[in-house]
Amino acid sequence: MVAPGFIAIGSGPAGLTAAETFGRKHPKIPVHILSSDPALPYAKPHLSKAYLRGRYPKLDLHSPGWFVQNGIRLHSGITVDHIDVVNREVVTAAGRRYRYWHLVLACGATPVPLAVPGGETAQPLRSFSDAVVLRMAAKNAESAIVIGGGLIGCEAASSLASCGIATSLVAPEPVPLHRRFGLEVGERVAKMLSDNGVRFIGSTGVAAVEDRCVTLNSGEAVEAELVVSAVGVRPDGRLAAAAGIDTECGRVVVDEHMHTSAVNVYAAGDVALAYNVTAGRRVPAEHWRDAARQGRIAGLVAAGYQAVWDAVPEFSFAIGDQMLKYRGWGTEFEHSRVVDHRDGFTAWYEIEGETVGVLSSNA
Ligand SMILES: Cc1cc2nc3c(=O)[nH]c(=O)nc-3n(C[C@H](O)[C@H](O)[C@H](O)COP(=O)(O)OP(=O)(O)OC[C@H]3O[C@@H](n4cnc5c(N)ncnc54)[C@H](O)[C@@H]3O)c2cc1C
Repeated sequence: MVAPGFIAIGSGPAGLTAAETFGRKHPKIPVHILSSDPALPYAKPHLSKAYLRGRYPKLDLHSPGWFVQNGIRLHSGITVDHIDVVNREVVTAAGRRYRYWHLVLACGATPVPLAVPGGETAQPLRSFSDAVVLRMAAKNAESAIVIGGGLIGCEAASSLASCGIATSLVAPEPVPLHRRFGLEVGERVAKMLSDNGVRFIGSTGVAAVEDRCVTLNSGEAVEAELVVSAVGVRPDGRLAAAAGIDTECGRVVVDEHMHTSAVNVYAAGDVALAYNVTAGRRVPAEHWRDAARQGRIAGLVAAGYQAVWDAVPEFSFAIGDQMLKYRGWGTEFEHSRVVDHRDGFTAWYEIEGETVGVLSSNA
Protein backbone atom coordinates (compact mmCIF):
# COMPACT_ATOMS: atom_id res chain seq x y z
CA MET A 1 0.00 0.00 0.00
CA VAL A 2 1.34 3.42 -1.03
CA ALA A 3 1.19 6.35 1.47
CA PRO A 4 -2.04 8.36 0.96
CA GLY A 5 -1.90 11.64 -0.91
CA PHE A 6 -3.29 13.33 -3.99
CA ILE A 7 -4.28 11.14 -6.95
CA ALA A 8 -5.36 12.15 -10.45
CA ILE A 9 -6.83 9.47 -12.71
CA GLY A 10 -5.86 10.44 -16.26
CA SER A 11 -2.77 12.11 -17.74
CA GLY A 12 -4.56 14.46 -20.14
CA PRO A 13 -4.57 18.23 -19.53
CA ALA A 14 -7.13 17.97 -16.70
CA GLY A 15 -5.30 15.31 -14.65
CA LEU A 16 -1.85 16.71 -15.34
CA THR A 17 -2.74 20.30 -14.47
CA ALA A 18 -4.59 19.22 -11.33
CA ALA A 19 -1.55 17.23 -10.15
CA GLU A 20 0.88 20.00 -11.07
CA THR A 21 -1.19 22.66 -9.27
CA PHE A 22 -1.68 20.60 -6.11
CA GLY A 23 1.99 19.53 -6.06
CA ARG A 24 3.17 23.14 -6.27
CA LYS A 25 1.03 24.11 -3.27
CA HIS A 26 1.95 21.06 -1.15
CA PRO A 27 5.36 19.76 -2.23
CA LYS A 28 5.60 17.36 0.74
CA ILE A 29 2.34 15.48 0.07
CA PRO A 30 2.69 12.51 -2.36
CA VAL A 31 1.13 13.25 -5.77
CA HIS A 32 0.30 10.42 -8.17
CA ILE A 33 -1.07 10.37 -11.71
CA LEU A 34 -2.51 6.98 -12.74
CA SER A 35 -3.10 6.71 -16.46
CA SER A 36 -4.01 3.89 -18.78
CA ASP A 37 -2.16 5.74 -21.55
CA PRO A 38 1.38 4.31 -21.77
CA ALA A 39 2.81 7.50 -23.31
CA LEU A 40 4.24 10.52 -21.51
CA PRO A 41 1.55 13.25 -21.36
CA TYR A 42 1.31 14.85 -24.81
CA ALA A 43 -0.45 17.61 -26.73
CA LYS A 44 -3.49 15.91 -28.32
CA PRO A 45 -4.43 18.88 -30.55
CA HIS A 46 -1.28 18.34 -32.66
CA LEU A 47 -2.22 14.73 -33.46
CA SER A 48 -4.85 15.53 -36.10
CA LYS A 49 -2.91 18.53 -37.41
CA ALA A 50 0.90 18.75 -37.76
CA TYR A 51 1.61 15.20 -36.58
CA LEU A 52 -0.72 13.58 -39.12
CA ARG A 53 0.79 15.77 -41.83
CA GLY A 54 4.18 14.27 -41.00
CA ARG A 55 5.60 17.42 -39.45
CA TYR A 56 6.40 15.83 -36.05
CA PRO A 57 5.99 18.76 -33.65
CA LYS A 58 7.10 18.45 -30.03
CA LEU A 59 4.28 16.49 -28.44
CA ASP A 60 5.52 15.81 -24.89
CA LEU A 61 4.20 18.25 -22.32
CA HIS A 62 7.04 17.42 -19.87
CA SER A 63 10.16 15.27 -19.87
CA PRO A 64 10.46 12.21 -17.55
CA GLY A 65 12.99 14.26 -15.50
CA TRP A 66 10.42 17.01 -14.97
CA PHE A 67 8.13 14.59 -13.15
CA VAL A 68 10.98 13.45 -10.90
CA GLN A 69 12.08 17.03 -10.16
CA ASN A 70 8.54 18.10 -9.34
CA GLY A 71 7.79 15.11 -7.14
CA ILE A 72 4.90 13.87 -9.30
CA ARG A 73 4.77 10.12 -9.64
CA LEU A 74 3.45 9.30 -13.09
CA HIS A 75 2.18 5.72 -13.35
CA SER A 76 1.65 5.21 -17.09
CA GLY A 77 -0.10 2.21 -18.61
CA ILE A 78 -2.07 1.59 -15.38
CA THR A 79 -5.83 1.23 -15.64
CA VAL A 80 -7.98 2.01 -12.63
CA ASP A 81 -10.63 -0.66 -12.18
CA HIS A 82 -12.69 0.90 -9.41
CA ILE A 83 -12.83 3.51 -6.68
CA ASP A 84 -13.89 2.91 -3.11
CA VAL A 85 -15.16 6.25 -1.83
CA VAL A 86 -15.86 4.87 1.66
CA ASN A 87 -12.31 3.63 2.28
CA ARG A 88 -10.90 6.37 0.03
CA GLU A 89 -8.90 4.13 -2.22
CA VAL A 90 -8.37 3.54 -5.89
CA VAL A 91 -7.89 -0.05 -7.11
CA THR A 92 -6.08 -0.78 -10.36
CA ALA A 93 -6.93 -3.57 -12.80
CA ALA A 94 -3.83 -5.40 -11.49
CA GLY A 95 -5.24 -5.20 -7.94
CA ARG A 96 -2.88 -2.53 -6.60
CA ARG A 97 -4.46 -0.17 -4.08
CA TYR A 98 -3.72 3.56 -3.70
CA ARG A 99 -5.21 5.44 -0.76
CA TYR A 100 -6.12 9.06 -1.35
CA TRP A 101 -6.83 12.21 0.60
CA HIS A 102 -7.94 13.98 -2.54
CA LEU A 103 -8.88 12.35 -5.83
CA VAL A 104 -9.42 13.99 -9.23
CA LEU A 105 -11.30 12.06 -11.91
CA ALA A 106 -9.90 13.18 -15.25
CA CYS A 107 -10.71 10.13 -17.37
CA GLY A 108 -11.63 12.14 -20.47
CA ALA A 109 -13.71 10.62 -23.23
CA THR A 110 -13.50 7.57 -25.45
CA PRO A 111 -14.29 7.31 -29.18
CA VAL A 112 -17.84 6.28 -30.05
CA PRO A 113 -17.62 2.96 -31.93
CA LEU A 114 -18.64 3.01 -35.60
CA ALA A 115 -21.70 0.79 -35.25
CA VAL A 116 -21.91 -0.76 -38.73
CA PRO A 117 -20.68 -4.13 -40.05
CA GLY A 118 -16.89 -3.93 -40.25
CA GLY A 119 -16.91 -0.62 -38.30
CA GLU A 120 -14.34 -1.98 -35.83
CA THR A 121 -11.74 -2.11 -38.62
CA ALA A 122 -11.84 1.69 -39.06
CA GLN A 123 -9.00 3.48 -37.24
CA PRO A 124 -10.01 5.93 -34.47
CA LEU A 125 -7.94 9.00 -33.56
CA ARG A 126 -7.98 9.72 -29.84
CA SER A 127 -4.55 8.81 -28.47
CA PHE A 128 -0.90 9.05 -29.43
CA SER A 129 -0.85 5.34 -30.29
CA ASP A 130 -3.87 5.86 -32.61
CA ALA A 131 -2.00 8.71 -34.30
CA VAL A 132 1.13 6.59 -34.76
CA VAL A 133 -0.92 3.81 -36.41
CA LEU A 134 -2.62 6.35 -38.70
CA ARG A 135 0.59 8.15 -39.60
CA MET A 136 2.33 4.87 -40.47
CA ALA A 137 -0.61 3.73 -42.60
CA ALA A 138 -0.80 7.15 -44.28
CA LYS A 139 2.82 6.86 -45.41
CA ASN A 140 1.89 4.09 -47.82
CA ALA A 141 -1.71 4.99 -48.65
CA GLU A 142 -2.92 6.64 -51.82
CA SER A 143 -6.55 6.95 -50.77
CA ALA A 144 -8.42 7.53 -47.51
CA ILE A 145 -11.93 8.04 -46.25
CA VAL A 146 -12.74 9.77 -42.99
CA ILE A 147 -16.13 8.99 -41.47
CA GLY A 148 -17.64 11.85 -39.44
CA GLY A 149 -17.88 15.56 -40.22
CA GLY A 150 -17.03 16.98 -36.78
CA LEU A 151 -13.86 18.79 -35.72
CA ILE A 152 -11.55 15.75 -35.64
CA GLY A 153 -12.98 14.40 -38.92
CA CYS A 154 -12.44 17.72 -40.72
CA GLU A 155 -8.91 18.15 -39.34
CA ALA A 156 -7.88 14.56 -40.08
CA ALA A 157 -9.28 14.70 -43.63
CA SER A 158 -7.50 17.96 -44.48
CA SER A 159 -4.23 16.69 -42.97
CA LEU A 160 -4.39 13.42 -44.95
CA ALA A 161 -5.23 15.32 -48.15
CA SER A 162 -2.27 17.64 -47.58
CA CYS A 163 -0.03 14.52 -47.66
CA GLY A 164 -1.16 13.95 -51.24
CA ILE A 165 -3.67 11.22 -50.30
CA ALA A 166 -6.96 11.25 -52.25
CA THR A 167 -9.28 11.84 -49.28
CA SER A 168 -13.05 11.74 -48.90
CA LEU A 169 -14.97 12.89 -45.85
CA VAL A 170 -18.43 11.42 -45.35
CA ALA A 171 -21.10 12.67 -42.93
CA PRO A 172 -24.86 12.37 -42.50
CA GLU A 173 -25.18 16.18 -42.31
CA PRO A 174 -25.44 18.33 -45.47
CA VAL A 175 -22.24 20.24 -44.59
CA PRO A 176 -19.31 19.60 -42.23
CA LEU A 177 -19.61 20.93 -38.66
CA HIS A 178 -23.32 21.51 -39.31
CA ARG A 179 -24.58 20.74 -35.81
CA ARG A 180 -21.98 22.93 -34.15
CA PHE A 181 -21.81 25.92 -36.48
CA GLY A 182 -24.86 25.80 -38.80
CA LEU A 183 -25.31 25.73 -42.57
CA GLU A 184 -23.62 28.99 -43.61
CA VAL A 185 -20.37 28.29 -41.78
CA GLY A 186 -20.54 24.61 -42.77
CA GLU A 187 -20.60 25.66 -46.44
CA ARG A 188 -17.48 27.77 -45.92
CA VAL A 189 -15.76 24.85 -44.14
CA ALA A 190 -16.75 22.55 -47.05
CA LYS A 191 -15.09 25.05 -49.42
CA MET A 192 -11.92 25.13 -47.26
CA LEU A 193 -11.84 21.32 -47.28
CA SER A 194 -12.34 21.21 -51.02
CA ASP A 195 -9.56 23.82 -51.49
CA ASN A 196 -7.36 21.43 -49.46
CA GLY A 197 -8.22 18.54 -51.78
CA VAL A 198 -10.89 16.82 -49.67
CA ARG A 199 -14.01 15.48 -51.38
CA PHE A 200 -16.94 16.03 -49.00
CA ILE A 201 -19.83 13.56 -49.29
CA GLY A 202 -22.72 14.90 -47.22
CA SER A 203 -26.26 13.80 -46.31
CA THR A 204 -25.40 10.12 -46.18
CA GLY A 205 -24.26 7.70 -43.52
CA VAL A 206 -22.09 4.61 -43.75
CA ALA A 207 -23.72 1.19 -44.18
CA ALA A 208 -20.64 -1.06 -43.96
CA VAL A 209 -16.85 -1.17 -44.05
CA GLU A 210 -15.33 -4.14 -45.84
CA ASP A 211 -12.03 -4.92 -47.55
CA ARG A 212 -10.89 -1.32 -48.08
CA CYS A 213 -14.32 -0.35 -49.32
CA VAL A 214 -16.87 1.80 -47.51
CA THR A 215 -20.47 1.36 -48.62
CA LEU A 216 -22.58 4.44 -48.05
CA ASN A 217 -26.30 4.51 -47.30
CA SER A 218 -26.74 6.25 -50.64
CA GLY A 219 -25.50 3.02 -52.28
CA GLU A 220 -22.17 4.53 -53.39
CA ALA A 221 -19.10 2.39 -52.65
CA VAL A 222 -15.92 4.35 -51.87
CA GLU A 223 -12.63 2.45 -52.23
CA ALA A 224 -10.03 3.58 -49.69
CA GLU A 225 -6.79 2.09 -48.40
CA LEU A 226 -7.19 3.96 -45.14
CA VAL A 227 -10.51 4.18 -43.26
CA VAL A 228 -10.69 6.57 -40.32
CA SER A 229 -13.55 6.66 -37.83
CA ALA A 230 -14.26 10.09 -36.32
CA VAL A 231 -17.88 9.71 -35.28
CA GLY A 232 -17.54 11.43 -31.92
CA VAL A 233 -16.50 10.77 -28.35
CA ARG A 234 -18.35 9.77 -25.22
CA PRO A 235 -17.34 11.10 -21.77
CA ASP A 236 -16.08 8.21 -19.67
CA GLY A 237 -17.86 8.56 -16.33
CA ARG A 238 -18.05 4.79 -15.72
CA LEU A 239 -15.64 4.73 -12.76
CA ALA A 240 -17.63 7.48 -11.04
CA ALA A 241 -21.02 5.91 -11.74
CA ALA A 242 -19.85 2.52 -10.44
CA ALA A 243 -18.64 4.24 -7.24
CA GLY A 244 -22.07 5.81 -6.70
CA ILE A 245 -20.91 9.33 -7.63
CA ASP A 246 -23.55 11.50 -9.40
CA THR A 247 -23.33 11.39 -13.19
CA GLU A 248 -25.52 12.73 -15.98
CA CYS A 249 -25.37 11.35 -19.54
CA GLY A 250 -21.99 9.75 -18.78
CA ARG A 251 -20.49 12.91 -17.30
CA VAL A 252 -19.53 13.41 -13.67
CA VAL A 253 -21.63 16.20 -12.18
CA VAL A 254 -19.53 18.82 -10.37
CA ASP A 255 -20.08 22.27 -8.91
CA GLU A 256 -18.10 25.41 -9.84
CA HIS A 257 -15.23 24.19 -7.59
CA MET A 258 -15.13 20.77 -9.36
CA HIS A 259 -16.46 18.94 -6.26
CA THR A 260 -18.33 15.75 -7.11
CA SER A 261 -21.03 14.30 -4.87
CA ALA A 262 -18.33 12.29 -2.98
CA VAL A 263 -16.16 13.79 -0.24
CA ASN A 264 -12.71 14.90 -1.46
CA VAL A 265 -13.39 13.63 -4.97
CA TYR A 266 -13.25 16.11 -7.85
CA ALA A 267 -13.72 15.77 -11.60
CA ALA A 268 -12.34 17.92 -14.42
CA GLY A 269 -12.06 18.00 -18.20
CA ASP A 270 -14.07 16.12 -20.82
CA VAL A 271 -15.51 13.74 -18.21
CA ALA A 272 -16.95 16.55 -16.07
CA LEU A 273 -20.24 18.38 -16.31
CA ALA A 274 -19.23 21.49 -14.40
CA TYR A 275 -21.21 24.49 -13.19
CA ASN A 276 -19.98 27.70 -14.80
CA VAL A 277 -20.76 30.75 -12.65
CA THR A 278 -20.78 33.15 -15.61
CA ALA A 279 -23.28 31.04 -17.53
CA GLY A 280 -25.28 30.30 -14.36
CA ARG A 281 -25.66 26.64 -15.36
CA ARG A 282 -23.71 23.46 -15.99
CA VAL A 283 -21.82 23.60 -19.30
CA PRO A 284 -20.28 20.57 -21.05
CA ALA A 285 -16.88 21.44 -22.57
CA GLU A 286 -14.66 19.09 -24.52
CA HIS A 287 -11.68 21.29 -25.24
CA TRP A 288 -8.05 21.35 -24.28
CA ARG A 289 -7.89 24.72 -22.52
CA ASP A 290 -11.11 24.18 -20.60
CA ALA A 291 -9.84 20.79 -19.39
CA ALA A 292 -6.60 22.40 -18.19
CA ARG A 293 -8.52 25.25 -16.50
CA GLN A 294 -10.84 22.85 -14.71
CA GLY A 295 -7.85 20.70 -13.68
CA ARG A 296 -6.20 23.78 -12.20
CA ILE A 297 -9.36 24.62 -10.23
CA ALA A 298 -9.61 21.04 -8.91
CA GLY A 299 -5.92 21.12 -7.88
CA LEU A 300 -6.28 24.49 -6.13
CA VAL A 301 -9.50 23.59 -4.29
CA ALA A 302 -8.04 20.24 -3.18
CA ALA A 303 -5.02 22.17 -1.90
CA GLY A 304 -7.29 24.39 0.21
CA TYR A 305 -7.51 27.48 -2.02
CA GLN A 306 -10.56 29.25 -3.48
CA ALA A 307 -11.21 28.86 -7.21
CA VAL A 308 -14.31 28.75 -9.40
CA TRP A 309 -14.95 27.99 -13.07
CA ASP A 310 -16.12 31.22 -14.68
CA ALA A 311 -14.25 31.33 -18.00
CA VAL A 312 -16.07 31.21 -21.34
CA PRO A 313 -15.23 27.90 -23.10
CA GLU A 314 -12.96 28.27 -26.11
CA PHE A 315 -11.06 26.24 -28.66
CA SER A 316 -9.35 26.56 -32.00
CA PHE A 317 -9.06 24.13 -34.90
CA ALA A 318 -7.38 24.01 -38.29
CA ILE A 319 -8.50 23.17 -41.80
CA GLY A 320 -5.26 22.96 -43.74
CA ASP A 321 -3.42 26.19 -42.93
CA GLN A 322 -6.57 28.07 -41.88
CA MET A 323 -7.01 28.49 -38.12
CA LEU A 324 -10.51 28.98 -36.77
CA LYS A 325 -11.25 30.08 -33.21
CA TYR A 326 -14.45 29.67 -31.25
CA ARG A 327 -15.50 31.19 -27.96
CA GLY A 328 -18.94 30.56 -26.54
CA TRP A 329 -21.36 28.43 -24.67
CA GLY A 330 -21.74 25.47 -27.00
CA THR A 331 -23.82 24.19 -29.83
CA GLU A 332 -27.19 25.81 -29.11
CA PHE A 333 -28.21 28.97 -30.95
CA GLU A 334 -31.33 30.40 -32.62
CA HIS A 335 -29.76 32.70 -35.22
CA SER A 336 -26.35 32.98 -36.79
CA ARG A 337 -24.95 35.99 -38.61
CA VAL A 338 -21.84 35.67 -40.77
CA VAL A 339 -19.76 38.76 -41.59
CA ASP A 340 -17.16 38.36 -44.33
CA HIS A 341 -13.74 39.99 -44.12
CA ARG A 342 -11.07 40.27 -46.76
CA ASP A 343 -9.34 36.99 -45.80
CA GLY A 344 -11.90 35.34 -43.60
CA PHE A 345 -15.15 35.73 -41.68
CA THR A 346 -16.70 36.07 -38.25
CA ALA A 347 -19.87 34.18 -37.32
CA TRP A 348 -22.01 35.44 -34.44
CA TYR A 349 -24.38 33.02 -32.73
CA GLU A 350 -27.38 34.40 -30.86
CA ILE A 351 -30.25 33.39 -28.62
CA GLU A 352 -33.01 35.99 -28.08
CA GLY A 353 -30.73 38.73 -29.41
CA GLU A 354 -27.85 37.87 -27.07
CA THR A 355 -24.51 36.64 -28.39
CA VAL A 356 -23.81 33.10 -27.14
CA GLY A 357 -20.82 32.29 -29.34
CA VAL A 358 -18.37 33.73 -31.86
CA LEU A 359 -16.37 31.86 -34.49
CA SER A 360 -13.67 33.61 -36.42
CA SER A 361 -11.50 32.64 -39.32
CA ASN A 362 -8.50 34.91 -39.92
CA ALA A 363 -10.30 37.60 -37.97
C1 LIG B 1 -6.85 14.27 -32.28
C2 LIG B 1 -7.42 15.30 -31.34
C3 LIG B 1 -7.31 16.65 -31.63
C4 LIG B 1 -7.84 17.60 -30.78
N1 LIG B 1 -7.71 18.92 -31.09
C5 LIG B 1 -8.18 19.85 -30.23
C6 LIG B 1 -8.00 21.24 -30.50
O1 LIG B 1 -7.45 21.62 -31.53
N2 LIG B 1 -8.46 22.13 -29.58
C7 LIG B 1 -9.09 21.74 -28.44
O2 LIG B 1 -9.48 22.58 -27.63
N3 LIG B 1 -9.28 20.43 -28.16
C8 LIG B 1 -8.84 19.48 -29.03
N4 LIG B 1 -9.02 18.15 -28.75
C9 LIG B 1 -9.78 17.78 -27.54
C10 LIG B 1 -8.87 17.80 -26.32
O3 LIG B 1 -7.71 17.07 -26.58
C11 LIG B 1 -9.64 17.22 -25.15
O4 LIG B 1 -10.72 18.07 -24.87
C12 LIG B 1 -8.74 17.10 -23.91
O5 LIG B 1 -7.67 16.22 -24.16
C13 LIG B 1 -9.54 16.61 -22.72
O6 LIG B 1 -8.67 16.48 -21.65
P1 LIG B 1 -8.95 15.49 -20.42
O7 LIG B 1 -7.77 15.62 -19.54
O8 LIG B 1 -10.30 15.76 -19.89
O9 LIG B 1 -9.03 14.04 -21.06
P2 LIG B 1 -8.04 13.21 -21.99
O10 LIG B 1 -7.03 14.09 -22.63
O11 LIG B 1 -8.90 12.37 -22.86
O12 LIG B 1 -7.29 12.27 -20.98
C14 LIG B 1 -7.97 11.24 -20.30
C15 LIG B 1 -6.96 10.38 -19.60
O13 LIG B 1 -7.60 9.45 -18.74
C16 LIG B 1 -6.98 8.19 -18.88
N5 LIG B 1 -7.93 7.18 -18.40
C17 LIG B 1 -9.21 6.98 -18.79
N6 LIG B 1 -9.78 5.97 -18.10
C18 LIG B 1 -8.84 5.54 -17.22
C19 LIG B 1 -8.80 4.53 -16.22
N7 LIG B 1 -9.85 3.75 -15.95
N8 LIG B 1 -7.64 4.36 -15.52
C20 LIG B 1 -6.56 5.11 -15.77
N9 LIG B 1 -6.55 6.09 -16.69
C21 LIG B 1 -7.67 6.30 -17.40
C22 LIG B 1 -6.62 8.14 -20.35
O14 LIG B 1 -5.62 7.19 -20.62
C23 LIG B 1 -6.09 9.57 -20.55
O15 LIG B 1 -4.78 9.69 -20.09
C24 LIG B 1 -8.50 17.19 -29.60
C25 LIG B 1 -8.62 15.81 -29.29
C26 LIG B 1 -8.07 14.88 -30.15
C27 LIG B 1 -8.20 13.42 -29.83
